[in-house]
Amino acid sequence: MNNKQTDLSLSQQNTLLNFDKENVWHPYTSMSDPLPSYLVDSAFGVNINLASGETLIDGMSSWWSVLHGYNHPKLNQALEQQASKMSHVMFGGLTHQSAISLCEKLITLTPQGLDKVFLSDSGSVSVEVAMKMALQYQHAKAHKQKQPLTKTKLMTVRNGYHGDTFAAMSVCDPVTGMHQIFEQVLMKHYFAPAPQSKFNESWSSEDVTELKALFANHHEELAAFIIEPIVQGTGGMRFYHPEYLKACRNLCNKYDVLLIVDEIATGFGRTGKLFACEWADISPDIMCLGKTLTGGYITLAATLCTAHIAETISKGEAGCFMHGPTFMGNALACAVANASIDLLLENDWQKQVKGIEKHLSTMLLPLVQHERVKDTRVLGSIGAVECKQSVNVAQIQKRFVELGVWIRPFGQLIYIIPPLIIEPEQITTLVSAIATVLDEDDCFNP
Ligand SMILES: *Cc1c(COP(=O)(O)O)cnc(C)c1O
Repeated sequence: MNNKQTDLSLSQQNTLLNFDKENVWHPYTSMSDPLPSYLVDSAFGVNINLASGETLIDGMSSWWSVLHGYNHPKLNQALEQQASKMSHVMFGGLTHQSAISLCEKLITLTPQGLDKVFLSDSGSVSVEVAMKMALQYQHAKAHKQKQPLTKTKLMTVRNGYHGDTFAAMSVCDPVTGMHQIFEQVLMKHYFAPAPQSKFNESWSSEDVTELKALFANHHEELAAFIIEPIVQGTGGMRFYHPEYLKACRNLCNKYDVLLIVDEIATGFGRTGKLFACEWADISPDIMCLGKTLTGGYITLAATLCTAHIAETISKGEAGCFMHGPTFMGNALACAVANASIDLLLENDWQKQVKGIEKHLSTMLLPLVQHERVKDTRVLGSIGAVECKQSVNVAQIQKRFVELGVWIRPFGQLIYIIPPLIIEPEQITTLVSAIATVLDEDDCFNP
């Protein structure tokens, strides 16, 4: 559908790609010997159209952000309508309907108690905001009680990922987050072992033995505990047991530590619940949202907190929360977020996610039989194939493009998280492509 041919000649394409290779940074690749980039001309539905003419079925949702497909008429319309009024106004002293409606929706949809919304630019920034809120809350609380401030650290679990800015990076897994490179400047926080009990398996209470001990020993220093609920994404697509998250909530309550839940990857239906917290039936004190918030259109993030936290901060020494990005509450982003959430609810997202989950379970889980595969797992619209060897990204990427799919593996993981509107036969094409490359030695590092 709507597969428009590119207007770029082959030589124009090459000129663009050469400039890109020489001068444009891409995420997590060398600038002197970069992994190849493919030139995209347009995207419609679940199809990404390359300038070179190929059409690829998108298995990545542009890093977990696309929900309803590319170039959706309703999302386009929301943007156009907003742009015809105003694209942006400063949020200091001014406000607008798009931001207000969005915050109202977020308060209604998220777990109980999250009543105050701070809008910001990106996932990492929303984590910075969450950490700053927790620290400012503890500061205000100590000040009010005329107690010395001891709660200045965070705790998290290994294998976590919370973003690339400095505070967010300080709670990422120390190994994959490369803490040694930034050792001089990174804040030092506490790390508990990663959850071991898997989502679908039986719960072992030993899983929280060390976590409990860390809380018992360090709670006086702890402002907050931060965790990705149920799915540790970038840290390895690990799906852990809801009892673990419940235990985190209980320990935070017991020791007067705030619970920050990073739903940036898991929010808006991805795991089969609207928010992954619901698997454990818990409400956090602070929640971060991003990625899918605008259905993959524009960067936008939100940090929600309880009325108690907002009030404590506001009655503290500073009298306000010390943060305020230039593009806070951007009207274009809020307008498209409103439209994306409306579509999610209209489209019966539960049925969409269940359909993807069922199809992935039938097709992708059996790949575990392959000699190169260590484990396969599926949760909601997320499917992961963990290999015994790491992938050769350049080669596997080239093969996926030849097979008509866009899948971007990392480390030993080939995973897919398609837009919710994907059709069963398109899922079949994605999984068949994975099955094909598993047989190809040059797609893997020795
Ligand atoms: C992607 C991600 C972030 C960072 O979001 P950005 O928009 O890339 O800054 C933070 N936490 C989690 C769990 C994520 O998946």
